[in-house]
Amino acid sequence: MLSLRDKRDCCGCGACAQRCPAKCIRMTEDAEGFRYPVADADACTGCGLCERICPGLHPSAPHDPLRLFAARNRDEAARAAGSSGGVFSLLARRTLREGGVVFGAAFVPTWGGVSHRRAEKEEELQPLLKSKYVQSDTDGCYAEAAALLREGRRVLFSGTPCQIAGLHAFLRGERPERLLTVECLCHGVPSPAVWRRYTEETAGGRRILGVDFRDKSRSGWRRYDFTVRTDGGERRVPAREDLYMRAFLAELTLRPSCYACPFKSGRSGSDITLADFWNIRNVLPAFDDDRGASLVLLNTPQGVRHFEEADAECRPLPWDDRVRGRNGGFLERVEPHPRREEFFRELPRAASVTELLKRTVKPTPGQRLVRKFRRLIAR
Ligand SMILES: Cc1cc2nc3c(=O)[nH]c(=O)nc-3n(C[C@H](O)[C@H](O)[C@H](O)COP(=O)(O)OP(=O)(O)OC[C@H]3O[C@@H](n4cnc5c(N)ncnc54)[C@H](O)[C@@H]3O)c2cc1C
Repeated sequence: MLSLRDKRDCCGCGACAQRCPAKCIRMTEDAEGFRYPVADADACTGCGLCERICPGLHPSAPHDPLRLFAARNRDEAARAAGSSGGVFSLLARRTLREGGVVFGAAFVPTWGGVSHRRAEKEEELQPLLKSKYVQSDTDGCYAEAAALLREGRRVLFSGTPCQIAGLHAFLRGERPERLLTVECLCHGVPSPAVWRRYTEETAGGRRILGVDFRDKSRSGWRRYDFTVRTDGGERRVPAREDLYMRAFLAELTLRPSCYACPFKSGRSGSDITLADFWNIRNVLPAFDDDRGASLVLLNTPQGVRHFEEADAECRPLPWDDRVRGRNGGFLERVEPHPRREEFFRELPRAASVTELLKRTVKPTPGQRLVRKFRRLIAR
């Protein structure tokens, strides 16, 4: 029976729960708001499959990408609809045109959480676009994808590296030709409970109509805004001034396993990795218009073929530190915020998560000084 010795070993992909032949594992939220597998001892047959397939317990070897590109969608509206260069939608639309099915992360109807779902038509794709900085629940999607593959359908499965590793674990190493896996580079996923409470508090009883963590429509891609639309109007703030985003970027609210992530550097087994090309200004300034640029890592021959056929506007790149530079997601792992433990200890009894975030991510005098200096030289 599955026994978790250390929470850092479980990324919450849910492969064990979806694969369990006795259906005795349920993904259950802990006090920090992250889902973990809990097995029903009476129903467990002791087959051990859950531990044998767990991707966190059996990490793969790292490897460099086969090829690397700076890329963007040629369609400006599609690029605007993506967090970086809109390359995900290019790959996804191609899959749909060929009669395939696309899996990805979408907000739940209340906007208070994120969950994986499938798209079979163009209009179902829109909710999967853009980064949502909340851990997504893969729900029954691995089993659904496997069933579609068995029927002979094409499947594009997208998600964080741990979710891609989870799918490959679920499929037990089988790599059907019809499957394309696309991961977004990820430095960590924040707690669903923190997001749920934060949205409830900031909406203040108004009905949420839309959330955009990466709104580049007004301030551009580099200085993106965080925007929430409600029936009472729109709240748009520079992302670095929003408390939830500041906590995410300061590595305060991430899942414990993210600080020990074993899926970086090609270890997830994904065919393609999509990232923001933050260092483009120094590496390829002529390709930078601040409307979004992706860094695309092609990890397998399957990934190379699909990307070439998708016809993105792209430039080849070498795999060096200038390309990896200024992108935390490439580092082996992020360090937890020094007050992470204290934050999550207080969370269950905190009357307001907004106040708790405010107290915890308040900049130190040193950080305030650096900010003041940056503002001065930006003038
Ligand atoms: C939690 C998270 C952390 C990230 N951290 C980094 C980073 O440190 N550095 C970096 O360069 N890029 C990071 N990214 C990736 C980046 O923000 C873009 O998603 C990526 O470059 C693809 O952009 P796009 O314009 O091609 O497509 P988009 O339309 O922006 O991307 C949509 C894709 O993202 C997936 N997705 C969105 N939200 C989630 C979620 N919560 N869980 C799983 N999958 C999700 C969708 O399934 C879809 O595949 C992160 C993304 C997420 C979700």
